[in-house]
Amino acid sequence: MTSPRDSIICLPNDHLRTRSQKVGIITDEIRAIVEQMQEATLDWEDNREHEIGVALAAVQIDSLYRIVVIRNNFDNKQDRTFQTYINPEITKFEGDIIEDYEGCLSVKDIYGRVPRYNKVKVKANSLDGREFRVTAEGFLARIFQHEIDHTNGILFIDHIKEDEKAFYELNSEGQLEALDYEKDVRDNNTLWK
Ligand SMILES: [Zn+2]
Repeated sequence: MTSPRDSIICLPNDHLRTRSQKVGIITDEIRAIVEQMQEATLDWEDNREHEIGVALAAVQIDSLYRIVVIRNNFDNKQDRTFQTYINPEITKFEGDIIEDYEGCLSVKDIYGRVPRYNKVKVKANSLDGREFRVTAEGFLARIFQHEIDHTNGILFIDHIKEDEKAFYELNSEGQLEALDYEKDVRDNNTLWK
């Protein structure tokens, strides 16, 4: 039997490094994709002990559309609601560049310290076709940059490819441990094209 989380694709699937197409009219197909994205994220989270599924891009369930869903509340797992962003675009990067940890449902068990802008302005359409704008700071700004990268076929590891000290893995106690760059990262054929 398959579960919703099984629809999530992982490296080395090269669709993850493919640019997604714009959504035109919001059809039932698009609405079904959004629903499937949310179900997959929650089902993934329900099967991970130490992590929360904060967001997903449509490419991660192998639908190459520019769609992103982001949880409304990262601090409370009980809140299982999402905001949907159709054709999201960053219109402005602002503030300092800050390094922090990131993981990805499509890059199994690897975390990285990724430099991102602390503030972004985003333009997107809602599921009812209305354009809206968001200014995001801190963790939410990071999520937007990570997810909109997905719509352009870019993964967080691509930003830190050469950084020998940036790669980590989650141990069984839920703590991050540094990876051996030469052994686990540099020559890992799963990660790089
Ligand atoms: Zn991701």
